[in-house]
Amino acid sequence: MSGNKNYRGRIAPSPSGLLHLGHAATFLQAYERAIEARGVLVLRDEDLDPDRSQAQFAAAMLEDLRWLGIQWQEGPDVGGPHAPYRQSERREHYLSAWQALYRAGAIYPCTCSRRELASVAQAPHEGEANEVNENDEPLYPGTCRQAIDTVTNRASPAGVNWRFRVLDGETITFHDARLGQVHFAAGRDFGDFIVWRRDDVPAYQLACVVDDNAMQITEVVRGEDLLKSTARQILLARALGYASPSWFHCALLVDQYGQRLAKRHDVLSLRSLRESGHTPADVRAMITVAPLGLR
Ligand code: GLU
Repeated sequence: MSGNKNYRGRIAPSPSGLLHLGHAATFLQAYERAIEARGVLVLRDEDLDPDRSQAQFAAAMLEDLRWLGIQWQEGPDVGGPHAPYRQSERREHYLSAWQALYRAGAIYPCTCSRRELASVAQAPHEGEANEVNENDEPLYPGTCRQAIDTVTNRASPAGVNWRFRVLDGETITFHDARLGQVHFAAGRDFGDFIVWRRDDVPAYQLACVVDDNAMQITEVVRGEDLLKSTARQILLARALGYASPSWFHCALLVDQYGQRLAKRHDVLSLRSLRESGHTPADVRAMITVAPLGLR
């Protein structure tokens, strides 16, 4: 990649646990791409989910990333022109995006319970990877799509889930710097997705799009388990009038049995590797071996 002073990349960990080798692989690639482009790397703390996020993991995250040798120029600890960088401190940004989508009729309130959804959940499409990221969600059957909202002129999203209405059959195509052209079909690969949760927490898809735009991110580097989220986020960005960044989805680390590393219960945290005497160079060496052999 040629030098590009305008390059702005980001790493966006969620403080819901300790960072492991899979995170290290993705974040090192994000860091290296920002360096190659002589650009800026932003660290964003994706701590919106109150049930999963913990301050101790947020602190450990910064420490482990530094130990690994990753440097960022903007973030919760260093500040920068687009502060704050903790999502829990950026609610007003997400709220204005919710309002814009609400006024445009792009989203609707969904009162389906988790149990109702589980009973109609559709199996993943044939040929599709069986594993879903925690930021992914099952195909929504569309139950509340046509329902008339009994509340007019809502001032707040609280109390119900809000879903983005996709255009069934629309193909979303984007260029990935590693994978080339990628296509997804709305209504088939993913359905109407949640942008705001009934417990009044903005959903990952919305917060991510709002922040990537506000922080002027030019390239998003993340794991390929988020490819479908990219398609969703392209639709959201379009509805909000934002330009989309470029994309680079990293390969996921697998163990010697081909199992995705993040799914293993005994996955090695950077913290435990460090405590058992491994150096950052050892970690880098471990993740360049593909597939990863953990012995
Ligand atoms: N916080 C999200 C995760 O850790 C970030 C995904 C992204 O890079 O957009 O999965």
